[in-house]
Amino acid sequence: MQEPTAPFCFSNSYAEELLDFYVECQPMAVQEPELLQFNASLATELGLGLEALVSQDLAQVFSGQTLLDGSRPLAQAYAGHQFGGFSPQLGDGRGLLLGEVAGSNGDRRDIALKGSGPTAFSRGGDGKAAVGAVLREYLIGEAMHCLGIPTTRALAAVATGELVYRERPLPGAILTRVAASHIRVGTFQFFAARQRWDQVRQLANYAIERHDPQISADNDNDPDRYLALLQEVSERQAALIANWMLVGFIHGVMNTDNMAISGETIDYGPCAYMESFSPDAVFSSIDQQGRYAYKNQPQIAQWNLTRLAETLLPLIDEDDPEGAVPKVEAILNDFIPHYEKLWLAGAQNKLGLENPSSDIDGDKLLVKDWLNLLKVHSVDYTLAWRRLADAADGNLQKLEALFPAGDILADWLARWHQRTAQQSASDTAERMRSVNPIYIPRNHLVEEALDAASEGDLAPFEELLAVLKTPFEERPTLSRYATPAPKEFMDQYETFCGT
Ligand code: AMP
Ligand code: MG
Repeated sequence: MQEPTAPFCFSNSYAEELLDFYVECQPMAVQEPELLQFNASLATELGLGLEALVSQDLAQVFSGQTLLDGSRPLAQAYAGHQFGGFSPQLGDGRGLLLGEVAGSNGDRRDIALKGSGPTAFSRGGDGKAAVGAVLREYLIGEAMHCLGIPTTRALAAVATGELVYRERPLPGAILTRVAASHIRVGTFQFFAARQRWDQVRQLANYAIERHDPQISADNDNDPDRYLALLQEVSERQAALIANWMLVGFIHGVMNTDNMAISGETIDYGPCAYMESFSPDAVFSSIDQQGRYAYKNQPQIAQWNLTRLAETLLPLIDEDDPEGAVPKVEAILNDFIPHYEKLWLAGAQNKLGLENPSSDIDGDKLLVKDWLNLLKVHSVDYTLAWRRLADAADGNLQKLEALFPAGDILADWLARWHQRTAQQSASDTAERMRSVNPIYIPRNHLVEEALDAASEGDLAPFEELLAVLKTPFEERPTLSRYATPAPKEFMDQYETFCGT
């Protein structure tokens, strides 16, 4: 293998500073690693200096067969509430942190494998992943990034050349994931459940240093710094969930082990973008009670943050953890109002309403009534907003075509026109198009691309990925990518965990 062109070398702050938080483990050997996808622009952004490597070399590196300088593969320990029930030991059962890199902007990022074989945390699982699930995470994560929403990202996908056994045998693959960190709410819970408060403190201090260095580091034991950490994590989650809700994204498995302290979207499993608007929408085959339905996501985030807050109480007040409850409650109680404020600002932008508004209550009602129209008439969520932008340009036809015939929209449109007419700016339609995507990962196209990829044809996947890279820019030749799934498809659509 050729040497990298630049002196890329992993650093290992997690391995060095958090000794009790992982088990070292080598990636499994795989027969015939073959590169399926490589995110060259992300590699460049991270300054990895891999430009000289040919595809076979990259396949070796991103299947863990060749370890780059400084790599110390490890499986991280974490616990988690899954669908409300607590599991004290989960951990990386099919993933390994290879190490960290400092990006060109100085931020430290994790580089990790998923599907790289069993670890001490596999609990009977095979530690593997299937091509479909790996490429699904690749595609939806990159789409999320291109929509401007914080997320872990895919650096590479490598086929292992081996089968993984699920309901049926599937081709195996390994994903390389880049993340601001892999610290989860469940990482805190792992140590709190064992009453290992020194470790919880160590983890909190590490998280502060990594994600919130502005929180005073003068005194590592200053109890207020843990409240400040909770506040920051809470604000990031409020912003993240507001973003998801505004684009119609349903994560599907918002367990506490799938919520990152960094505020990035993490662990794309049975997730989906909503098509026709329904607040009750749930697509995950494992979410039978609808716990993680679209409309529940803000409350679930708050519930998860409450679990995080519980782990911090003994740090905030060592002598009287219960006495710290009102302090964390103040932060947790602020979560929904803060989320709603961010969501409303986003919805105002999507409606083309200038911010700040002189009539917040009027705007709220306008948004509410708009969403109600979408709900009552089961209108495609993404297209409705986008075609409203066209309506701002005087082209009403495409918008009206989404609704049943008749004067359904007239009253609401009159109110909206009246509101936008009060604004000084003339670029309403353009502003709306910059925040209302025309292309999202349409479920039927995602499935079609993944099915083809599992059969060895990557062309549909690559085409879809290319379209999703510029989601706000409509191209007339790409109308297929903006068209909702046939009703029959969505009526039976469920996504599976793919584990
Ligand atoms: P996830 O559903 O991917 O968030 O995973 C939940 C937990 O199950 C984590 O601890 C994973 O590491 C573990 N897990 C999921 N799939 C597998 C697998 N195929 N083998 C071993 N562990 C797994
Ligand atoms: Mg997970």
